[in-house]
Amino acid sequence: MSKGSGKTSKDCAVDAFRGGLALDLALSYTDWADECFYLPRESSSEYGRYRSARTPFVREILDDLSPMSPAETVVLIKPTQTAGTTIGLIFLCGMIDMYPGPALMIMPTDSMARSFSKKKLAPTIKAVPRLRSKVKEQKSRAGGNTILQKDFPGGSLALTGSNSGASYRSESIKYLVLDDFDGFELDIDGEGSPEELADRRTGTFPGRKIYINSTTTTKDASNIERAFDHSSQGYFHVPCPHCGGLQYLTWGGKDTDFGIKFERNEAGEVVDCWYQCEHCHQRIDEHHKTAMCAAGVYVHRYPERVKTRGFRYNALVSPAGWVNSWAYIAKKFLEAAAELKKGNPQKYQVWMNSFMSEPFEQVGDRPEWATIKARAEPYQALTVPAGAMILAAGVDVQHNRLAVSVWAYGRKEESWLIYHIEIHGDPMHDDVWQQLDLLISGTFPGGGVQHHISSVGVDAGDGATTQAVRNYCRTRAPKVFALKGSSTPGRPVVGAPTKQDLTWNGEKIEDGVEMWPIGTDTAKVTIYTRMKINDPGPGRIHTYVGLDDEYYKQLTAEKLVTRFVKGYPVREWHNVRGSKRNEALDCAVYAYAAAIRAGLPYLDLKSELKPPPVVRRPAKNHAPARRKRW
Ligand SMILES: [Zn+2]
Repeated sequence: MSKGSGKTSKDCAVDAFRGGLALDLALSYTDWADECFYLPRESSSEYGRYRSARTPFVREILDDLSPMSPAETVVLIKPTQTAGTTIGLIFLCGMIDMYPGPALMIMPTDSMARSFSKKKLAPTIKAVPRLRSKVKEQKSRAGGNTILQKDFPGGSLALTGSNSGASYRSESIKYLVLDDFDGFELDIDGEGSPEELADRRTGTFPGRKIYINSTTTTKDASNIERAFDHSSQGYFHVPCPHCGGLQYLTWGGKDTDFGIKFERNEAGEVVDCWYQCEHCHQRIDEHHKTAMCAAGVYVHRYPERVKTRGFRYNALVSPAGWVNSWAYIAKKFLEAAAELKKGNPQKYQVWMNSFMSEPFEQVGDRPEWATIKARAEPYQALTVPAGAMILAAGVDVQHNRLAVSVWAYGRKEESWLIYHIEIHGDPMHDDVWQQLDLLISGTFPGGGVQHHISSVGVDAGDGATTQAVRNYCRTRAPKVFALKGSSTPGRPVVGAPTKQDLTWNGEKIEDGVEMWPIGTDTAKVTIYTRMKINDPGPGRIHTYVGLDDEYYKQLTAEKLVTRFVKGYPVREWHNVRGSKRNEALDCAVYAYAAAIRAGLPYLDLKSELKPPPVVRRPAKNHAPARRKRW
């Protein structure tokens, strides 16, 4: 970019600062930060005086956020823990000091905005001497307004969450920060995408600046990838210390002649790690990194896009001394790749997103139902196969029936379906719930002992039956819990529960039932990935002989598709059977969530074999009446 401020004017401005004079010459945010910015001890591992030389990949981003750049929108795809937040803080603090105006910062949720304001922004303002007298601490406005506000001479900064749509509609603003953009609600209160709303809000302001940043998530549904696609698409390139060839440092891979290479000892630990130049193929050691990055530049794919600038860097250019050394990233890669092999894609996705700044390509192909059926094994329904340690049930609630699956889980998340049933009847009446009680309070033989179901997740997502589900779960907690599916990609399979409960009359019940959010997209990707595993062991999904075709058709009923809403891609799971049933898949998702809630992730941590939770008493008849057995 063209900085606009020549060396002389910058020097003059710096002198003006040093002399304590009012600012009358333009200074870029990079130059301002080197002179005036401090990172607070409370929130930074590297606190104290800011030095832009430490993170050279930040400079051009700050320069384009400065008034002398023609850029209006700056899009950044970043790894986690590497300068992303600092850029936003410098932009906001420098703005308050030099170019004040009305500003708005939006984060995914109100609570994140609150936490950022308290833990990052406030300590930073205190740590920057030039701001101390300009920004006064201010409490939230009265009247239930949740927006946080900082006032200063010449402007104000409001902070809010993308989940509070009303805040977008207030007065127009000059500076906008969309932080952690992939966590945003896509369509706010039916008013369109956050970008459209933001565009309307800043539209009339000359010299407006919009800073959008995030780590990326999944390819089809990433907000930040979409914004980056429309930008100049700059990648931070560094020169090879041997041949001088510029390149964007990237992972490469086992079969590439460039990228991160490493050697391991017999224990599998990374003992040597280096980068292979993509031009001369010579070995580049990590001690070269500081000098390489100091000479780094962004190479823009569409340099003519001067209004919308895009930047991308990954953790391979982290400053020396930070935790993200090449060897550390290689170690994390090996851990994530091992999990992926076992059918657990989440860790690999996190590694791709947080270290490589690359999106994760979802594995959503529909498994063939007949293939899964042909693999069924000759163990008995209602019995617990060897290796299984946790029993969990998932209940899907329909208007005229409950669909229930009981799954058994063992180490490395190997799983066995041990029963699937439909209980017919109206969920508004007690009858179906009594039959469910019979099933989930029963015992299941296996290995000479009787096993109990330890966790039951019941779908409370259908408005018509929500209250009936809550009533059922309230008296059976904590073993039985109400859940609600969230189809947003990247959500954990089991989220943090919220207390929400009302009586039939709509009055709030103290100590009411908890509602557990379930990341259905994440769970379905995991289950579909695992259905392709053929060998017994980690992640393998087993079914028993005797289930009919309908069960398998339901289990494989959904397909991951990308749909366009107002021109934006939205990832969705579609029932390929049209209006036909798909409950078996939902039951598998809910049972998996129930098992996680019951401690499934901890099974593998207990390396000393502990006997499975058993109750030594004879089996009673646990099969409910009026059942339809698969
Ligand atoms: Zn080279």
